[in-house]
Amino acid sequence: MDLSLTVLGCATPYPSVDNPCSGYLVSHGDTRVWMDAGAGTIGPLQRHTRLEDLDAIWISHLHADHSADLLTAYYALLFADVSRDPVPLYGPPGIADRLAGFLTNGPERSPVESAFAITELHDGHEAEVGSMRLTSAAVEHGIPAFGVRIEAAGRSLTYSGDTAPCPSLTALASGTDVLLCEAESAVKTPDMVHHTPEDAGETASSAGAGRLVVTHVGRFLTSQEAVARASARYSGTVAYAAPGSTIRVG
Ligand SMILES: [Zn+2]
Repeated sequence: MDLSLTVLGCATPYPSVDNPCSGYLVSHGDTRVWMDAGAGTIGPLQRHTRLEDLDAIWISHLHADHSADLLTAYYALLFADVSRDPVPLYGPPGIADRLAGFLTNGPERSPVESAFAITELHDGHEAEVGSMRLTSAAVEHGIPAFGVRIEAAGRSLTYSGDTAPCPSLTALASGTDVLLCEAESAVKTPDMVHHTPEDAGETASSAGAGRLVVTHVGRFLTSQEAVARASARYSGTVAYAAPGSTIRVG
């Protein structure tokens, strides 16, 4: 039974024809976590799981390219053919009111809590979801944002979310089997809130990650450039998070 990562999409800051925004399905046996719900990911998610069978949703931060499909998930969960208890939802502080702010159309606040059982993340937050353990760490993205390490049966996957290189991400990813790291920026700037591909390679090296998967590659880079540039700073295997692909961890 493998821990696996399926890429639903990884585009930024808007979907392309064949690549939704950031979203992944992390699976281990019967346990399934939708990790980031960027625009367009709820469609391909259903190639791999029924919404009834999701064990949890984990959201790194509230930029729309990581969270907008919570809005469509709300409609699926409350007003369509999906019948289940509220989905456990882990996300940044304020996530419930952010959703309600968009969804509420009348004098009554939309019942976000009827669709989602919400837990706000904090630095060091730990959750047991089925056979997985999720450890979240605050990262540096200019707004409340988190990375996550997901462990199951002795294997681990660590996801950067969106962040500048930071000690907390390196610590979270220490010795991880697979580091899924954003490489949004083509060039380094003083006030950047993302990684360049070189930064992704350096984070993977510093953390001693077993493999690096670069994701969330910006519009001014190609996936091939991102892999080549990250490889220059990391001696392990580097792959691109190709939409639709599944990566087995360990
Ligand atoms: Zn972001």
